[in-house]
Amino acid sequence: MTLRVNETFVSVQGESSHAGRLCFFVRLAGCPLACRYCDTGYAHDPAAGAERTVPDLIREIGLSGVNLVELTGGEPLAQPDSLVLMRELTERGFEVLLETSGALPVAAVPEQVCRIIDYKLPSSGMTERMLAENFRSLTPRDEVKFVIGDAADYDCAVKVIREFDLAAQTPHILYSPVWGGMAFHELAERVIADRLPGRMQIQLHKIIWGPERTGV
Ligand code: SF4
Repeated sequence: MTLRVNETFVSVQGESSHAGRLCFFVRLAGCPLACRYCDTGYAHDPAAGAERTVPDLIREIGLSGVNLVELTGGEPLAQPDSLVLMRELTERGFEVLLETSGALPVAAVPEQVCRIIDYKLPSSGMTERMLAENFRSLTPRDEVKFVIGDAADYDCAVKVIREFDLAAQTPHILYSPVWGGMAFHELAERVIADRLPGRMQIQLHKIIWGPERTGV
């Protein structure tokens, strides 16, 4: 029961319907995708992490005084023992979020976990890696995030929402501009005009600390 961990830290949750809350982050190392706009390239290689045991991580999280825990990456599901960590945390009463790319199956994730699943749009270069099954069996606790870089991404997101009838599955559909990509106001105006379900979000941690800072 070991995981390759790039970093752990406590910060203000910057995204999702949990934005603004204190959160303990576990950033796992390694990702099978290569999104063009990836802002965590430093965690992309599995070698970019140190080996940690699940009990050791749980001890550190327990001492932090923070009850909300997010597994992020990299791609957490690329490491099978991430499922063990999620299960152990939920059994101890922690509220657990999983940030995952949509390219690996999410069905085995413990049901108490809030799965935040990215649907990679064309500007990522990874659209063809999306697993349709991940977007057909969501629960109202789950969240689907569209990171939008340009107009083609936006149009694709609208199509995906309709194709999978996402709004009927979860109220948590997120629209997030690629940092430095589509202007915030342009995305907002499109969401307003099209009366899209869900919520627009801007990465709060980048507004607070700037886009280059890691560990926040
Ligand atoms: S899935 Fe996430 S970590 Fe992996 S390349 Fe894409 S943005 Fe980076």
